[in-house]
Amino acid sequence: MSLTLQLKSSEWREHLARTAADVPGLVPVVKGNGYGFGLERLAREAVDLPVDCMAVGTLPEVARVRDGGWGGDVVVLTPWCAADGVAGLDDPGLILTVARGEDLTALRAARPKARVILELLTSMRRHGLGLAELNAAFADLGELRHEGWTIHLPIAGQNAFEEARILAAAAQEVAPSVLWLSHLPMADLKVLDALHNGQTRYRMGTGLWLGAPSTRRTMARVLDVHHVRRGDRIGYWQHLMPTAGSVAVISGGTAHGVALSAPTAGSSVKQRLTSLVTGSMEAMGFALSPFTVDGRKRFFVEPPHMQSSLIFLPVTAHVRIGEMVPVELRLTTATVDRIEDDCSW
Ligand SMILES: *Cc1c(COP(=O)(O)O)cnc(C)c1O
Repeated sequence: MSLTLQLKSSEWREHLARTAADVPGLVPVVKGNGYGFGLERLAREAVDLPVDCMAVGTLPEVARVRDGGWGGDVVVLTPWCAADGVAGLDDPGLILTVARGEDLTALRAARPKARVILELLTSMRRHGLGLAELNAAFADLGELRHEGWTIHLPIAGQNAFEEARILAAAAQEVAPSVLWLSHLPMADLKVLDALHNGQTRYRMGTGLWLGAPSTRRTMARVLDVHHVRRGDRIGYWQHLMPTAGSVAVISGGTAHGVALSAPTAGSSVKQRLTSLVTGSMEAMGFALSPFTVDGRKRFFVEPPHMQSSLIFLPVTAHVRIGEMVPVELRLTTATVDRIEDDCSW
């Protein structure tokens, strides 16, 4: 148990504070696996930022950020729908997103004074009211508290600004209110914010929590090392060892989000031919792992196990049992065993 996220905590927090100061109306997003940090941990960090509202993905996540110590407003990004029921709706800091007329009617019946943001359909086509539905939805709010309009843009949009501007203008025409935005370049956000008299809020997860990548690293412990001879059979699947060397058992498996195929290195035809000629591991069907041992990414012996991986090392590689080695993880899909604060390297 030792896949560790190491943090240069004060530098990371300086980045968080700088981002909060730079982004007008920042709303930290904390959802899913908590960007590798966990929801409670990020909620606790958000308490120290100059922000009054954060966003979660789903209704059950609200309780998690409350557990983390967050007492301010919480927006739920996934639109509420009648099938969700009324559990959890009595938190006074809760702001729901609604994206369909019938859900609005159902919410009004269930919690007539709930706080709501109405979502506009964008080119992403995920959730939202079409422009033609905005007037009717607004008129249907009754005593529901309208906290604004939300526009969730695609990340790869060519004309994000233009789309945001048009949708925002249409919404403001129906009822001037706060605009909740995501995934816009900062310069565009500032223009929109000026256009709407500082009435914009900007939701940000990845850029906030996972910005400043030099302030963190993920490390895995070498749990065991065994010498192997050419021709030995190893692992669950008894793979044949092509050459002598050693097998390192390293913490980090499928439960941590360690994936079988690491990035594209060696996948081009030219590289594959080179591999064949040089008789490398790749040519023999071994997959590159995300673990770096003795300065190089090494190959998996077989697909990662649930909590550890078998890694092949040539005789020239040096490794010690107990040593921590770098592992490349995508933190939005990873679960670490522990977070170590105040590290330096
Ligand atoms: C998840 C989410 C975000 C945050 O996205 P990042 O790319 O992590 O910054 C923003 N807005 C909405 C509506 C989301 O669902």
